[in-house]
Amino acid sequence: MAILVAGGAGYIGSHMVDRLIEKGQDVVVVDNLSTGHLAAVHEKARFYQGDTRDKTFLTNVFKKEKIDGVIHMDAFSLVGESMTDPLKYFDNNIYGMIVLLEVMHEQGVKYMVFSSTAATYGEPENELIAETDHQEPINPYGESKLAMERMIRWADEAYGIKFVALRYFNAAGAKADGSIGEDHHPETHLIPIILQVAAGQRAELQIFGADYKTPDGTNVRDYVHVLDLADAHMLALEYLQAGNPSQAFNLGSSTGFSNQQMLEAARKVTGKAIPAKVAPRRGGDPDSLVADSQKARQVLGWQPQYDDVEDIIRTAWAWKQSHPQGYADK
Ligand code: NAD
Repeated sequence: MAILVAGGAGYIGSHMVDRLIEKGQDVVVVDNLSTGHLAAVHEKARFYQGDTRDKTFLTNVFKKEKIDGVIHMDAFSLVGESMTDPLKYFDNNIYGMIVLLEVMHEQGVKYMVFSSTAATYGEPENELIAETDHQEPINPYGESKLAMERMIRWADEAYGIKFVALRYFNAAGAKADGSIGEDHHPETHLIPIILQVAAGQRAELQIFGADYKTPDGTNVRDYVHVLDLADAHMLALEYLQAGNPSQAFNLGSSTGFSNQQMLEAARKVTGKAIPAKVAPRRGGDPDSLVADSQKARQVLGWQPQYDDVEDIIRTAWAWKQSHPQGYADK
C-alpha cells in the first residue's frame, strides 16, 4: 500500500516524501507544480502531474495505485496574496479539498493527515496557543484552512474518513545535506529572506516594526524544522492506522524567537554582516505567535530533533549555499 502526498513537489511536501522513502514507504506524489518544483520530487516516488481539483485525474491515480492514506499539503499559502485575491484561495484550497475527500470516499481510503496552520487561530488569546483556543482567522488563507479542517470533520462523521489536522507554526530549515530546500516565488518567509541578504541577493532585511509588545519590540514567532514536521505526519498516520480518533495538534517548538533574535542567529551561523533596517509595521502581524505543542508530544510521541534555532538556520544555509538560485540550480 502507498501513501499519497498531495503537494509532494512543494517545500514541506518534498521533505515529507524524502522522509517517507527513507523509512521504506511506498510513495505516490500528486502535484500540479503551481508553486512546487519537478526537481524537488524524489526519484523513488511515483509522480503524477495534475490538479487535485480535477476529479477525473485524481480518480485515475487512486484507481491505478493502492492508496492507504493521504497527506494533504497542496494548498496556496501566501497570506498577503489571499487578502487581495481571496477567491483564488477558496477555489484552490477548499474546492481542492472537496474533490480529494469525494475521491477518497468513493475509493474507500480512510486516513488523511492534513497540513493546517497557526493562521486558523487569528489573534492569539494566550501567550502559548493551545488547540482548544478560539479559531477566528484574520485572513482568507487561514479562513480556507479552517474551512478545510471543518470539512474533514464532517467527512469523518458521514463517511468515516479519519484525520489528523496538524496546525504548524513556521516551517523552517531544510534537509541537512542541502539537497532539497525552500524555494518560493515570491519568498515571504523570514529565514530564506535573511539568507538572501547573507548571500548578497538582497540589499538588506526589512524588520517590519520594532515597537511590538515583545522583549526587543520585534515580532516573536515559533520555528519548527521541516523534517520534524515530516516525522509528526508519519506518527499521525500511525496513530490513525491504530484506530485512534480524529483530532488536531499544534506543531511548534513552544519557544518563540523574535525577528531580531533570528537575524542575530543568522549572522552567527553565516558569518555575514546581514544589513537590516526597521521599517513600518505591516497590517495583521500579531505581537507573538507561539504554539503549545505538548499534546503532539504526549499523544503522538513526537520528539522534534531540532530544538536549536541556529541548527535550523544552518540547514537552510546549507541549501542556500549549494543552490543559490533554488531549484533552478538543479
Ligand atoms: P508549497 O507552495 O511549497 O507547496 C505546496 C505544493 O502544492 C506545491 O508543490 C504546489 O505546486 C502544490 N499544489 C498547490 N495547489 C495544488 C493543486 N490544486 N493541485 C495539485 N497540487 C497543488 O507550500 P509549503 O510551504 O510546502 O506548504 C505546504 C502546506 O503546509 C500548505 O498546505 C500550507 O498551507 C501548509 N503550511 C505551511 C507553513 C509554512 O511555514 N510553510 C505553515 C503552516 C502550514
